[in-house]
Amino acid sequence: MSAVVRRSKTAKRRVLKKAKRRARRAGAAPRGRRRKPLAAAAGGGPRWKLLLPHLRRGRQAVISTHVNPDGDGLGSQLALAAYLKQRGLRVAIVNSDPVPRAYGFMDPRGEILTCRDPAARRAMDACKLLFALDNGTLSRMGDLEGWIRETPAFKICIDHHASQDDIWDLRLIDEGACSTGTLIYQMIRTLGARLNPAQALAIYVALITDTGYFRFSRTDASTYRLAADLLDAGVDPIWVYHEVYERNSLAYLRLLGTALSNVNIECGGRLGWVSLSRQQIDEVDGGEEDTSEIVNSLLTLDGIRMALLLKEMPAQKTKVSLRSKGEIDVNVLAGRFGGGGHRNAAGILLAEPLERGVERVLEQARRLLAAES
Ligand code: 5GP
Ligand code: MN
Repeated sequence: MSAVVRRSKTAKRRVLKKAKRRARRAGAAPRGRRRKPLAAAAGGGPRWKLLLPHLRRGRQAVISTHVNPDGDGLGSQLALAAYLKQRGLRVAIVNSDPVPRAYGFMDPRGEILTCRDPAARRAMDACKLLFALDNGTLSRMGDLEGWIRETPAFKICIDHHASQDDIWDLRLIDEGACSTGTLIYQMIRTLGARLNPAQALAIYVALITDTGYFRFSRTDASTYRLAADLLDAGVDPIWVYHEVYERNSLAYLRLLGTALSNVNIECGGRLGWVSLSRQQIDEVDGGEEDTSEIVNSLLTLDGIRMALLLKEMPAQKTKVSLRSKGEIDVNVLAGRFGGGGHRNAAGILLAEPLERGVERVLEQARRLLAAES
């Protein structure tokens, strides 16, 4: 009789458990979490065909995304704009804030306007179809919020956040998607169009920035398959990496240095947080650039479960960026302060000064971690 057959049932179960643990350590996805490849998923997800009756030639569309637009918001906008133009619509991309320096390469023709631009105002006045992409909540539309509420245009929300607003005439939402760009890709393919190289680039930037270069929790096989499709469509991944991640200013690097050397570690090493005052930011001449890589760096510490960056903003406000690992839900935590996002990445704009903001958010963060241990 072999050694395996001789083992008792409990021993076998133990061996099986061990093998599973080993597979997980080697990077295998736990069972039940595997998703269908994108080609198969394209038929599911949001009901893209509901869009078709609205995409009439000559109609004026306006496409907007959230304040401080990121790679996902901007990439989704550019890819959707090109698709709508192919179908004969007039299109304007209009945001509350200008394109951050890091993403300037995506918009060489300066197509992306702010709502203060006269051409944007004209498009907003003539708008029949409004698209809000990747916004999460209406309150993240900044100076566009009032106009969005009031415009008689047909309002469409495309997002991978769980948007709670009831103002949309059509909601095309998939919380399981790793980026809004992925949804725009699905939409274009489901409605029967092909991607041009500029659209492929836009969607690739959306994909890599929202998955943190394929490392955040919603990354799966379909994410890599989509990336492969986009490379086939002409994307140069080395050039894109350089544009997005290797063109930081010296001020930004200094700010990262300040943040990392002032990090606070609590809860037995499971919580890492850092606050940045205006003075610290000004000392290194740091601008309002994206600081998401700073908070993500804290997550590289061994044993960490949650990381927070609290940044003093003008007008006595505090911007909080929250990140977590595994089941710890920072979306719920952010929600208690009027913020939101996703389970493992969320944000809050607190209408409180830095010190008070640090106190209140940390108290809740410690509680959440205490409940976990
Ligand atoms: P970050 O920390 O990089 O600014 O934001 C992480 C994620 O949190 C974003 O992708 C977005 O989903 C969400 N988020 C950031 N700031 C806010 C905010 O002020 N309000 C809400 N509702 N969500 C936010
Ligand atoms: Mn997004």
